[in-house]
Amino acid sequence: MIFKEDRYLEKIPFVSLEKAQEIAKDYPTPFYLYDEKGIIENVEALKEAFSWNKGFKVYFAVKATPNPFIVKLLHEHGCGCDCSSKTELMIAKSLGITGDEIMFSSNDTPTDEYEYCDSLGGIINLDDITQIAKVHKALGRLPKKMFCRYNPGGVFNISNDIMDTPADAKYGMTTEQIYEAYRILKDLGVEEFGIHAFLASNTVTNDYYPKLAKILFKLIVNIKERTGITIKYVNLSGGIGIPYYPYQDPNDINEISERVKRAYDSILVENGITDVAICTELGRYMLGPYGALITKAINEKHTHKEYIGVDACAVNLMRPAMYGAYHHITVLGKEDEIAVHKYDITGSLCENNDKFAIDRVMPKIDMGDLLFIHDAGAHGFSMGYNYNGKLKSAEILLKEDGSYQLIRRAETPKDYFATFDCFDFYDELIKE
Ligand SMILES: *Cc1c(COP(=O)(O)O)cnc(C)c1O
Repeated sequence: MIFKEDRYLEKIPFVSLEKAQEIAKDYPTPFYLYDEKGIIENVEALKEAFSWNKGFKVYFAVKATPNPFIVKLLHEHGCGCDCSSKTELMIAKSLGITGDEIMFSSNDTPTDEYEYCDSLGGIINLDDITQIAKVHKALGRLPKKMFCRYNPGGVFNISNDIMDTPADAKYGMTTEQIYEAYRILKDLGVEEFGIHAFLASNTVTNDYYPKLAKILFKLIVNIKERTGITIKYVNLSGGIGIPYYPYQDPNDINEISERVKRAYDSILVENGITDVAICTELGRYMLGPYGALITKAINEKHTHKEYIGVDACAVNLMRPAMYGAYHHITVLGKEDEIAVHKYDITGSLCENNDKFAIDRVMPKIDMGDLLFIHDAGAHGFSMGYNYNGKLKSAEILLKEDGSYQLIRRAETPKDYFATFDCFDFYDELIKE
């Protein structure tokens, strides 16, 4: 049995049952809810932690939560956009975010997306050495400022439980290619250079950024020795994670920053390189904890197991179905009840992996209860799809003053049928 008294076993939702019920009256479940206050406090703390670095810049990984209202909110707090597709670039453009405020960290990139990025003045972060010629040909020149993505290969070990295998990752250039790439870029007229690497994802340890920074700082020293080129920008990319499990401790951004600074001083400054600006392109860390999927219990089933069917399904939040990801679930209003029932919490897809939780011990769930699925703010809604004819939910921003705003309406059947332009499908249907 799991008792609430153990502080690790419950997570505190950012909305009360009463408020969630109020919102659900206006906008039926399921819906995504984002916590403006949490988003702002977190981004301000990130900027403050790295304020020692002149030129520090936060780019928000738009793919995590590609909602213009969220991107705008972050932009008001100093964030640029990290994009990797044309539509993400279009979101940036629609908000007047252009030039150095765009980091285009794409891979397997179609030529027209480079052209589009360049038309906005965005920074192209090259995933591969072959892309230099491609960009040069497409634009007839190279931009003045360019980044290259690095992949050291091998195995990347941060701590006992976090290991990643850059050697198997499709991203980035090898060490030899990196030296060569900067030489070519310089010959072709590039004047300012940045370096980027993304070696591990969702790291819940303070070791990741410091370890990555050391690798990149040393590389900068080597690049200078080998090529005479001084790298002016380091993009530490994404990868700082969040504690999905209630027993995990969150990352300490101040400690992370302090340790990056130590590496900066001991590697770069020691070698006479003093003005390297750091940037991040975090997604999960920026939004993950500050978004939740709110869904209602609509069916219960007692067969070989105990099931609770909710009105959301994997199209609304794919992570549990796709990689067995844990998302904590709070039954709103029952935060203080003892968890004694073991449930599978399921959606309605005709796929047996459509389960938000398996064998989860929770308080007794009654029909109509609202479930708060935690930590869905990043890579949640954005991974949505339309399998089984399911429609994507609304997104709602809970403001600091307690009011709320619809920031994306729910899809309707009309949206689902909209791409069948050649038939008057939907029009006929609604006539019936
Ligand atoms: C996905 C992605 C990010 C964001 O990753 P998080 O794990 O959400 O921080 C940043 N940069 C690139 C290039 C990405 O593909």
